[in-house]
Amino acid sequence: MRRRSLLAAFGSIPLAARAAQPLRVVTSFSILGDLTEQIGSAHVSVQSLVGPDGDAHVYDPRPKDLRTLMQAGLLVRNGLGLEGWMDRLTGAADFKGRVVVAAERVVPHTMTEDGGAIATDPHAWQDPRNGILYVQAIAGGLAEADPANAARYHEAAAGYAARIVAMDTWIETTLAPIPASQKRIITTHDAFGYYGARYGVEFLSAEGISTESEPSAKAIAALVRQIKRQQVRAVFIENMTSPRMAQMLVRETGAILGGTVYSDALSPPNGPAPTYLDMLRHNTTLFAAAMR
Ligand SMILES: [Zn+2]
Repeated sequence: MRRRSLLAAFGSIPLAARAAQPLRVVTSFSILGDLTEQIGSAHVSVQSLVGPDGDAHVYDPRPKDLRTLMQAGLLVRNGLGLEGWMDRLTGAADFKGRVVVAAERVVPHTMTEDGGAIATDPHAWQDPRNGILYVQAIAGGLAEADPANAARYHEAAAGYAARIVAMDTWIETTLAPIPASQKRIITTHDAFGYYGARYGVEFLSAEGISTESEPSAKAIAALVRQIKRQQVRAVFIENMTSPRMAQMLVRETGAILGGTVYSDALSPPNGPAPTYLDMLRHNTTLFAAAMR
């Protein structure tokens, strides 16, 4: 009898009071990991499969990832074809938890790849207005997976979205005085299409929107000619790709090496871009310095 009444009392305690354990969330890569931590703070425990400086296009999941995913209550992935390896992993883990596709509400850009194929550009997070859509999608997923803290997640998402809006305004103000004819940048792969469309910067690259295939000699030769013809000033290394391509383009064209920007991954905590907002600020500071 005493046992039954205890159980009855236990049943009436709100879920949050019982479940002090943070919600386990797996994200596909480090940028989504940061967005999730910004919203979930102490209520979530976030593990990113592809960590800082990693390449989410070509990741090869390890047995450890399978175990991590099996213990998670929520999976956050980008979508738009970024994580071609994800379905194999969720299938192998028989993952039945909730899945947030962060880019779900983004209006996707398509690009014509070398060879003529039309591909969807997955790098939507580089436009901060899309970053806000990501934040809203993630907050919705957290709220569904952990209803006791739903109001906290939505409130944190609103506050964080306001900081993204402020960053967007800062980027616009920083790049606005630069003449349009100077707003050209070379990167290793086409990771900045959304950023370029938002702020009127033309990004050229040898490699296309995925790092899966090496650029052809013909594509590289065409890019070298274009850099010389348009007098593009700077070539940038991306943190998650080999610096060889950028270094070769600098040698061939006489453009300057603009530094390392963060496209598909954050830096480690002690680097210049350990968060999404740090990444946007760092990249913009380097791009602006090279284009002025
Ligand atoms: Zn990429």
